[in-house]
Amino acid sequence: MAKIQVLKNYCKSCRLCIEACPRDVLQIGEEVNENGYEIVEMKENAECIGCKMCAVMCPEAAIEVFR
Ligand code: SF4
Ligand code: SF4
Repeated sequence: MAKIQVLKNYCKSCRLCIEACPRDVLQIGEEVNENGYEIVEMKENAECIGCKMCAVMCPEAAIEVFR
């Protein structure tokens, strides 16, 4: 299964990646980065297909996709 990694301090909690994901994999987590934004994370047991839509949509280039 594919997975994503968020570069935590780049995330601005804008949610564009959440809306872009066709598998509803992503959510805003509870962890806050050094700029005060809640960081996006994968949902537990979510099935990422490695489509990279989230990474393409992220204006901060905060997401890396591994597959
Ligand atoms: S790679 Fe695709 S399936 Fe995986 S989290 Fe990003 S948008 Fe969702
Ligand atoms: S699109 Fe990028 S900056 Fe926006 S919430 Fe997702 S990871 Fe964070």
